[in-house]
Amino acid sequence: MTVDPYAPHSGDPSYHVLEYRLILRYRVLTNRLDGEATIIAVADERLDSLRLDLVGLKAARVRVDGEKRTSFRQSNRRLTVTPAAPIAPGQEFRVSVRYSGSPGPRTSRWGQVGWEHLEDGILVASQPVGAPTWYPCNDRPSDKAHYRIEVTLEEGYTVAATGELASCVSSSGRSTWTFVDALPTASYLVALYIGRYRSEALPLGPVPGTVYYPAEIRGRILTDLEGLPGMMALFERSFGPYPMGRYDVVITPDALEIPLESQGMAVYGSNHLDGRGSSERLVAHELAHQWFGNSVGIASWQDIWLNEGFCCYAEWLWSEESGGLSAHQQAKHHHALLADLPQDLVTSDPGAHEMFDDRVYKRGALTLHALRRVVGDEDFFEILRTWCDLKRHGIGRTPEFITLAEELSGVDLRPLFSQWLDQLKLPKIPHRTKRD
Ligand SMILES: [Zn+2]
Repeated sequence: MTVDPYAPHSGDPSYHVLEYRLILRYRVLTNRLDGEATIIAVADERLDSLRLDLVGLKAARVRVDGEKRTSFRQSNRRLTVTPAAPIAPGQEFRVSVRYSGSPGPRTSRWGQVGWEHLEDGILVASQPVGAPTWYPCNDRPSDKAHYRIEVTLEEGYTVAATGELASCVSSSGRSTWTFVDALPTASYLVALYIGRYRSEALPLGPVPGTVYYPAEIRGRILTDLEGLPGMMALFERSFGPYPMGRYDVVITPDALEIPLESQGMAVYGSNHLDGRGSSERLVAHELAHQWFGNSVGIASWQDIWLNEGFCCYAEWLWSEESGGLSAHQQAKHHHALLADLPQDLVTSDPGAHEMFDDRVYKRGALTLHALRRVVGDEDFFEILRTWCDLKRHGIGRTPEFITLAEELSGVDLRPLFSQWLDQLKLPKIPHRTKRD
């Protein structure tokens, strides 16, 4: 395995992580973090040394398998750890890192990512390379691991993080919140939200969930989340069973530029949920990420259309389901908009700078719509459900999706995918060729 060409300074392909155990002592008032991370990993090749991403925080002590003779050096991006003896391929090992500092966002080519201060609390928005701003990690999207996160901080705050809340214990004015994530999770999808939140059960149908919100905006946010049970039902019908154990939604008191998905969660700014449903498509989009991006992960950022194109298409499905424009009308509308924009992006390889360009999202969704027109509804949704089932909590790659679509439909789809994904010129939306 090689480094990700879109994020060549992140991640170490020579090992993979099984589990992160994070013990975080934090003071909101002073933004001081003292952390201890234990990383249980397996070598994929002989390791004379290994790298962990860590940005803006200082490591004080590093041990491999408790060995004092471990040495390390730290640059502004990463820790390079040299164990006392080389680690053999296939061998499990454990790295513990004590670290501390005042966490903050990291400047990347995608803007500021990672740990972010709010007026009275924090959130982390790690996509794509922000996770190392709060814990040392092997920060590549394909390296999924389990997490146990323990956060101790001042009383009076609510903590929401990836996984199930296992316990919350208070003593001497401090509270310790412990979360256990039983599902394999990519580092960029691990979330931590701290604030003065109220919380209550989030109506989702059979899936449990909690909504966290500033008390004063309760009415309007609940109105804007009313569609969620219907979205959940539509997506389960279209993509298969909801892949996570729960779904939590956090609404920050601050305005945010964009909402963001994380494992089993999504975060919105108070500006997104205005009580008029103006972000309804984004409520659908972030929920759909639980299937596309979070359960079915990507091997490399280059494949971002597998996340964003699919979630954009989920928006169009919800539009139709909820009485708005049909998916086909949405497709025609966005096709017309794209036709007026420069056609200088390759959807299957948009380049690191452009990977979050809206044209990748829309043309990715149009690619799915083109597929649907050619194979018909029955095969199309069978392809999506089978994809989510086969790749559940794993990694999906574009050629695998194409092969699956061909196998299930019996149609030669390479020319279609090549036109839509690999070429610059925007193809026409195909006529329906298969009747259901
Ligand atoms: Zn998205």
